[in-house]
Amino acid sequence: MMLLVKENWKMIDKALFPGSFDPLTNGHLDTIERSAKLANHLYVAVATNTSKKNLFTISEKIEFIQLATKHLGNVSVIKHTEGLTIDLAEKVGASVLIRGLRNAEDFEYEMNIAAINKTQNPEIETVILMASQQHRFLSSSLIKEVSFFDGDVSKLVPSVVNKAIKEKYATQKKMK
Ligand code: ADP
Repeated sequence: MMLLVKENWKMIDKALFPGSFDPLTNGHLDTIERSAKLANHLYVAVATNTSKKNLFTISEKIEFIQLATKHLGNVSVIKHTEGLTIDLAEKVGASVLIRGLRNAEDFEYEMNIAAINKTQNPEIETVILMASQQHRFLSSSLIKEVSFFDGDVSKLVPSVVNKAIKEKYATQKKMK
């Protein structure tokens, strides 16, 4: 196949991929791997989504992403616990925000976030990567639901997450 992107030539200098990653799925990982090819450096910013119930702590979520992205030399994982994402992007020098898109519902949501972000800092662009076909159905919430009822998610999440989620629910169930 013709090489469309010249080796070592990157479209973006620094990009930031924000999300709650509760927990990281193979879909998130795919977006990370693909955006790491577009940018010299990719920051993955791990947030607490206040409107969703968190299963893992920020530190746990950061550790999963660090372990699952060890093979990528240009990715670092950072905490996003306060302030606006757009301000964090500016702080780390990222000119691009990365988000993933799975379906029409994501589209409505992402379009609004991108638009509101523009009102806060018009210099920062949102770049949306279409989810790969095999990951379109995949969400952290579904992973949690299947795993809670002892389903097998080993093919849908990195192995570190698969192990941790089983342990987390086993501990929670024991405590009840
Ligand atoms: P948030 O709470 O910020 O939406 P998520 O962890 O749910 O955080 O998602 C972070 C980003 O990753 C979002 O842009 C979401 O659309 C994208 N994403 C989630 N699941 C997938 C997937 N399976 N494939 C590609 N992108 C995904």
